[in-house]
Amino acid sequence: MRSETIGFQDYPFISKGQAYNDSSRFPGHREVFLYINDYATTFGLTKLVRFETNVVYAGLVNGKWRVRSRMENGVIADETFYVVVVCNGHNTKPRTAEILGIDAWSGKVGSSDLDIFMDIAQVAKEVHIASRSAKVGVLGNMSSYDNLKLHPMYHFPFLDTNDIITMEDNCVGPLYKHTFPPALVAWLSFVGLPLMGIGFILYEFQSKWIAGVLSSRIGLPSEEEMMRDVEA
Ligand SMILES: Cc1cc2nc3c(=O)[nH]c(=O)nc-3n(C[C@H](O)[C@H](O)[C@H](O)COP(=O)(O)OP(=O)(O)OC[C@H]3O[C@@H](n4cnc5c(N)ncnc54)[C@H](O)[C@@H]3O)c2cc1C
Repeated sequence: MRSETIGFQDYPFISKGQAYNDSSRFPGHREVFLYINDYATTFGLTKLVRFETNVVYAGLVNGKWRVRSRMENGVIADETFYVVVVCNGHNTKPRTAEILGIDAWSGKVGSSDLDIFMDIAQVAKEVHIASRSAKVGVLGNMSSYDNLKLHPMYHFPFLDTNDIITMEDNCVGPLYKHTFPPALVAWLSFVGLPLMGIGFILYEFQSKWIAGVLSSRIGLPSEEEMMRDVEA
């Protein structure tokens, strides 16, 4: 994505100097990584993060969340919280296509994206590449298959909401504006579920909205109104 769309309002990406600059204005993962690290350091966030810790259970019991987590050294912690905000991304669990005959394929996936594109080009009608470094013109065309695009997979193996939140056809709901489950406001909220959109800006606005609701600065419609909005 273009550098103008990366970054948060209080710490713009494009003004942070040479380290993040990219002549093509499409920063790579290293620049984004440096930016996020600097953001966390500048605002003192690092000390608030428990690294190498996996949340294995989060369940609502008598109006409070029982959260169980496992650290890298195997130590397990059981804690109680009033509120849970789920932001575990959607790249945790790979989503693979069911392809007839794939079990019989003994090939390997190459390390380069171009290797993969070359393979795809053998069976796809068209392959389009958006790349800073691609020097390949026409890779190849063959009919038989339509282009295939797989969205990432939502995956919340730890979350127990007594079936208030369900996932059907990779769609999580019911959620008001993809953020608040009307029946669990504001004990539970989600950041980062929408797949289409400009990530950084979306996550920032969702986080500010949730913080505003939790601190009672922002109100929400009634449960019924939110459900009507979800079903509309
Ligand atoms: C190849 C690729 C290129 C991309 N390029 C761009 C780009 O150029 N610009 C852009 O804006 N976006 C880009 N994206 C999208 C961007 O990476 C995501 O939108 C963004 O990382 C989502 O942020 P997130 O915090 O919601 O999730 P993540 O960044 O996935 O973070 C979720 C975190 O939760 C942790 N987690 C998961 N489950 C648990 C658990 N049970 N307990 C504890 N921790 C857990 C994970 O380990 C992870 O650290 C790209 C994505 C991919 C895959």
